[in-house]
Amino acid sequence: MMTTSSDTSPVSLVTGANKGIGLEAVRRLIGAGHIVYLGARDADRGRPVAESLGARFVQLDVTSDESVSRAAALVAEEQGRLDVLVNNAGITGPFRDVHDYTADDAAMVLMTNLVGYVRVMQAFLPLLELSSDPRIINVSSGLGSFGLLNDPSRKESTAGQPLYAASKAAVNMLSARYAKLLPGIRINIADPGLTDTDLTRVPGHPGAGLGHSVEHGSDAIIAFATGGPETPTGAYRDRDGDLPW
Ligand code: NDP
Repeated sequence: MMTTSSDTSPVSLVTGANKGIGLEAVRRLIGAGHIVYLGARDADRGRPVAESLGARFVQLDVTSDESVSRAAALVAEEQGRLDVLVNNAGITGPFRDVHDYTADDAAMVLMTNLVGYVRVMQAFLPLLELSSDPRIINVSSGLGSFGLLNDPSRKESTAGQPLYAASKAAVNMLSARYAKLLPGIRINIADPGLTDTDLTRVPGHPGAGLGHSVEHGSDAIIAFATGGPETPTGAYRDRDGDLPW
């Protein structure tokens, strides 16, 4: 059953939000007055974090149809709409010598970073279409940009991570096309920039220990989620502004 919340606070959902940039986005959206659903695949790690912040927990594994459908049913039941969807859940996949990447590696990275975003958008589009100001923020990366790859002054031009970068380039095109197909929804792409999280704090990651804070990493997400009427659609930005595609 779908109900409509009488509360006028915007309703937001952030996926992969038990830690890192997603968690910071939840914290800031609550600060901005939103009702926030903190999505995490592991309830034991997600629920206590949600409770400590005043967010609502929703179990959500972006690789599972069943989990994502259940999450959408919960938000429908409790709120009757969704105003802001932040597709954030992501993985780097393994770090290997380039000769050794396998098809299974590629499938794993794309299954979360690309297919997961499609799965979540499909499940939540009906709820977003009940909002008066619906927004989707797809978290990508500067590694998904051909412009930055070809700019020798940028660190993105030297980084490896071909599977991860390909997944984020795909997210960029996916989002730009969805933005054209769905003019009633602001659909934008946020690049956190190199951010100090568990994702970068791994052996083999070229940016390990070099990233900025999660607050800076969530700036572009928050700008797209809470910006005024001038907020664009189909844009690709980091905290400093537009990025080359
Ligand atoms: P973290 O590793 O800290 O967090 C990633 C989150 O995604 C975790 O909550 C993780 O859950 C979740 N996740 C992974 N797989 C799934 C899944 N199948 N279903 C649901 N949740 C899942 O990384 P960051 O916070 O750094 O990354 C957040 C986003 O920002 C990602 O999309 C990443 O690609 C992007 N990004 C990050 C940058 C950086 O420098 N950190 C730079 C550019 C982009 P669990 O704890 O269960 O593993």
